[in-house]
Amino acid sequence: MIVVPSLKDRKVAVMGLGIAGLATVRSLLESGARVMAWDDNADSRDAVEKEGAEIADLLAIDWQDVACLVLSPGIPHTFPKPHPVADAARAADVEIICDVELLGRAQPDATYIGITGTNGKSTTTALVGHILEAAGKDIEVGGNLGPPVLGMRPLDKDGIYVLELSSYQLERMSSIRFDVAAFLNISADHLDRHGGLKGYIEAKQNIFKGQGAGDTAVVGIDDADARKEADAREKGDARLVRVSGESVPEGGVGVEDGCLIDATGGRAEILDLSDIRTLPGSHNHQNAASAYAICRAAGVDADTVAAAIRTFPGLPHRQELVATIDGVSWVNDSKATNTDATARALSSYERIFWIAGGLAKEGGYAALEPWLGNVAHAFLIGEAAEPMANWLGTRVPSELSGQLGTAVTHAHSKSQGDAGAVVLLSPACASFDQFKNFGERGDTFRKLARDLAAAHEERAAS
Ligand code: ADP
Repeated sequence: MIVVPSLKDRKVAVMGLGIAGLATVRSLLESGARVMAWDDNADSRDAVEKEGAEIADLLAIDWQDVACLVLSPGIPHTFPKPHPVADAARAADVEIICDVELLGRAQPDATYIGITGTNGKSTTTALVGHILEAAGKDIEVGGNLGPPVLGMRPLDKDGIYVLELSSYQLERMSSIRFDVAAFLNISADHLDRHGGLKGYIEAKQNIFKGQGAGDTAVVGIDDADARKEADAREKGDARLVRVSGESVPEGGVGVEDGCLIDATGGRAEILDLSDIRTLPGSHNHQNAASAYAICRAAGVDADTVAAAIRTFPGLPHRQELVATIDGVSWVNDSKATNTDATARALSSYERIFWIAGGLAKEGGYAALEPWLGNVAHAFLIGEAAEPMANWLGTRVPSELSGQLGTAVTHAHSKSQGDAGAVVLLSPACASFDQFKNFGERGDTFRKLARDLAAAHEERAAS
């Protein structure tokens, strides 16, 4: 657990008591702080009270001598509308921070690797963690996804924190200077929370704050906004490494014909990515190129990086192969909650029985159009089913399946015997209309697919 000595005997307000909020409360109590906590959910409040925190209505407290407000990343302090507790803190000049900021203050000597982007953060973070572990480094991996940062082990100058960072976290951090900062890509997402694309990009740019000579900025160039960011970084003091999953940037790291190539000094072929099952598609090649550049900057040799990429186990819910039924692959991409992520999945396979829908995000589905030729049939679920069917029109045969279970059953009967085809859950939508989160949606799909596979095997054996 992380201890923040500077907050000993200080009053700290914590708003939002999910997994990270609970870890924050524990860490602050261990630091000797007086913690005043709130969450609208009574169960979360009970859990924190048991730990010894004071449950307080943060709209009614005296903010005068409060050191800071640790506000859960999911709760807005600006757009679309500041939460009243954020307004109250600001009115009293109390700073609003997130848990990662506390980590930076507590462990100033450690090495920090930060990874942000609209898509690919978790995959790249997990891959970097996997490589650094294989290289024998002393690391802790977490952040936006995975273990909360304040539950991690304290690391000193020989240790490396590998942090996946969302725009929500980056806008509430100021103390960490990243030795290696990676900015993978930008596409329209969470725009309501940042007052538009400009605000969203500015939040992500925070990852480069304070970088100087000796630090490295790894920037993707596979979309226009990230490319602009790379050009802007050219003027910074940090070393810039451009990365791509689609080409080999001059002086950078990229992929050509499936081969990972390091062109940072000369041109070295590192490894063939095309047969690495856990990293399919050019987007995952971008993640591999980024992870390679990051780990090289962290001092790992190229051979060790290449060997570790080969053994990457992959992450659940991201183009995860969950079953094979008579040559038909069943792929769980429940994490694809926006059209850009789904476009990547649709581009990765040639004959797709596509399960999509859920809670629609703003922005429409135009990003998917180039890949509709890969879709044999669409099975549409949730609130977005009808609008998606209207958008598809007659270009792709589709049905309004409603529920995921129905979509799975119908996709199974339509795809049976179509060896080489893929049944793909890649919703392009959030899950909250029918599921707790994308994880529950993906777990449900995985179980349904495996049950079908087991029943199929039983029939074949009898
Ligand atoms: P994040 O943590 O940023 O949400 P993940 O690694 O969890 O990213 O991947 C989320 C989804 O985005 C996956 O469904 C995957 O298909 C897609 N994806 C992964 N990497 C990239 C990338 N580099 N560019 C675009 N889409 C990606």
